[in-house]
Amino acid sequence: MIATIKETTNILNKYNLLAKKKYGQNFLIDINVVNKIVNTSGIDKETGVIEIGPGIGGMTEILCEKGGRVLCFEIDPDMVEVLNGEIDKENLKIINQDFLKVDLGNELNYFEGLNKIVVVSNLPYYVTTPIIMKLLDYDNQITSMYFMVQKEVCDRLSASPKTKEYGSLSVIVKLKGDCKREFIVTRNSFYPAPNVDSAIVSIKFRKDDSKGDFNPNFIKFVQNIFEQKRKTVVNNICNNYKISKEEITQKLVEKGYNPQIRAEALALEDIKKIFELL
Ligand code: SAM
Repeated sequence: MIATIKETTNILNKYNLLAKKKYGQNFLIDINVVNKIVNTSGIDKETGVIEIGPGIGGMTEILCEKGGRVLCFEIDPDMVEVLNGEIDKENLKIINQDFLKVDLGNELNYFEGLNKIVVVSNLPYYVTTPIIMKLLDYDNQITSMYFMVQKEVCDRLSASPKTKEYGSLSVIVKLKGDCKREFIVTRNSFYPAPNVDSAIVSIKFRKDDSKGDFNPNFIKFVQNIFEQKRKTVVNNICNNYKISKEEITQKLVEKGYNPQIRAEALALEDIKKIFELL
């Protein structure tokens, strides 16, 4: 299966399929983009590769050629039928399941003996955030991740404090690793073409002590203080925790923070300090 418009429409016709909107099916039809993504990911024969949503396999075959072993999760049984019919690779395992319901820890045994695990995926846009959030839990096993996401999501993931894109997702990702926009992919590289442009974003997990501890209460706290971005941190905290406005204001002032501050002005280290006040 080669990622071109001709091959993609041929395969869809052969199996009598249409791209399904409900599963976010926009297939890559530009082989140069596919090659660029795979090269950027730096995978080699010692790498275990995870692909979420292989679709009709436009990227999967190349991942199998460059990677050690490839593990795919695909929700749509029609796509799995295409993959089984069109791709014959010994180092490919396809799991027909919703990635969000998979016991990933168990499935990672497939990569035993390999040097590293890398995620390379053109993500279904309707579930981008929950997929990324799930993968962030496996930072000890996974080395890095390369995702195709909507350009705006990429901007949010890699945003810095005091920008309008900065939000809970940016903070939570920063807790675990370094995030970077690799390159933009225009809508014409897909069939059907989506309404927005996309980007390849990388998240490289830090493997040192500076990595945050993924305390679920802290994650909730981050989401809470960004809940209403135009409200102050004090107001967002009062809305979500049993603490009076006076008390949290006093604690912030004692630590040298302006009580009128909004979450978008806070770097990760500040957010950690304020969380400890609670
Ligand atoms: N990788 C292919 C490509 O680049 O041409 C297809 C990418 S398409 C944007 C997203 C794929 O994810 C579709 O094949 C869709 O069926 C699959 N998908 C959607 N939701 C999923 C989920 N929760 N778990 C696993 N796969 C999912």
